[in-house]
Amino acid sequence: MVKIEIFGLGCENCERLESRVKAAVEQLGIDANIEKIEDFETFVRRGITATPGLAVDENIFSLGRVPSVDEIIGMLRKKSTSVPIPSGLGIPVVNPTCGCSTTGTMIYPCSGGSNVGQISNEAAKAMVVRGLGKFSCLAGVGAHGEVFIASAKKAGRIVVIDGCATRCAYKMLKHVGIEPTVGVVVTDLGIEKDYERLDPSPEDVRKTINLLEEKLDQN
Ligand code: SF4
Repeated sequence: MVKIEIFGLGCENCERLESRVKAAVEQLGIDANIEKIEDFETFVRRGITATPGLAVDENIFSLGRVPSVDEIIGMLRKKSTSVPIPSGLGIPVVNPTCGCSTTGTMIYPCSGGSNVGQISNEAAKAMVVRGLGKFSCLAGVGAHGEVFIASAKKAGRIVVIDGCATRCAYKMLKHVGIEPTVGVVVTDLGIEKDYERLDPSPEDVRKTINLLEEKLDQN
């Protein structure tokens, strides 16, 4: 069984790649497990710096483009001689102008090393669980990862959750030309910043979520 992975955020190019992969598999008559991967953490771990990406048996064959059916057939035939690309952000970006998009709400907590930073992180996670948006990697934006910046620029709404008035998440996004739609600062809720206490209280997380929901209702 050949393992084929398609990395992308569900845009037109990702769909086209999937249908070409299926056509190639059908023409070859091979047994394949085709998996679509859409989360940023996996992109970073696997070194996917441009989408759509295509991997066969864990080896990355293409990034940031949609290979033709014939090319994919060639890839599948040669898979045993492919060269694995090391994971991580160090690989070059093949095509930074990818067509992937996330039109919904993207959430960027500062995730700082204090109680308020961790409250931002917990609030972001809770929002994702409630289906209010998609968690994204602020560190990827800060590292100028093309795929992270492109996705943020195409999002319908950008939610920023900063722990304190330093507003690192807000500034990081602004630095790459992204204007957040909604922003909250946890210390504005009267919660004091504490570097020694990294476990946020559920009550403080709840307060932050309430404020976020209020602001989202207005936008
Ligand atoms: S906004 Fe405040 S809590 Fe968050 S990372 Fe920056 S300094 Fe830390």
